[in-house]
Amino acid sequence: MRVGLFGGSFNPIHFGHLRSAEEDREALNLDLVYFIPAASPPHKTEGDLAPAEHRLAMVRLATKGNRHFMASDVEIRRTGRSYTIETVKYFLATLRQPATLYLLMGADQFAELDTWKDCGEIVSLCNIAVHTRLPDGESGPSKVSLAALSGFGYSRKEDHYVHTSEHTLSFIATSVIPYSATAIRRKIQRGQSINYLVPSDVADYIQRHALY
Ligand code: ATP
Repeated sequence: MRVGLFGGSFNPIHFGHLRSAEEDREALNLDLVYFIPAASPPHKTEGDLAPAEHRLAMVRLATKGNRHFMASDVEIRRTGRSYTIETVKYFLATLRQPATLYLLMGADQFAELDTWKDCGEIVSLCNIAVHTRLPDGESGPSKVSLAALSGFGYSRKEDHYVHTSEHTLSFIATSVIPYSATAIRRKIQRGQSINYLVPSDVADYIQRHALY
């Protein structure tokens, strides 16, 4: 089984997340993509972070129509800071069938990978797929991330990179959907519409619970 793990604050989940996960799923031939809202993301200040149970509920609503998409509450149940290394180990230990794991992330997250807790162990335990959000189908690592690659133990092989553990790092050129949760929260705060930026169930949920 081929499984993608897509973590984030999902504050709220939007079509940028959903479409890139769908394109990652197709490109990597994944059977399942788990969307994993962080309880408390290590790299974000908590200012307008909606309570975890609301962010999880919105991820559930947004993913329910796709049989390949699942919402996971693993980081929320764990509480405290959400470290990816613990999530990767959790999935490796608990998935019933032997699974090939892909950690899915945007290029902005990948550029900071060297600041993540136990990043060396993360890259040795699972594959990484970075959706690059570059215009005109260009793809590839930024200069900053390139500098980090050899430090992590990757070497180049055709169009991807291979770690000494044999796990891969690939860059997937996905459609550019330049939405951000920050911009969506700002619109809500200004009383503007967020229709067509998030699934309609998510927009309804935000309104019903007066989030943001
Ligand atoms: P914020 O604006 O609050 O920082 P965000 O919209 O960037 O949030 P996150 O929950 O922080 O969303 O991101 C989760 C993951 O989704 C990250 O790997 C990020 O790179 C990726 N991502 C965020 N927005 C997009 C988008 N528009 N297209 C593709 N990937 C995205």
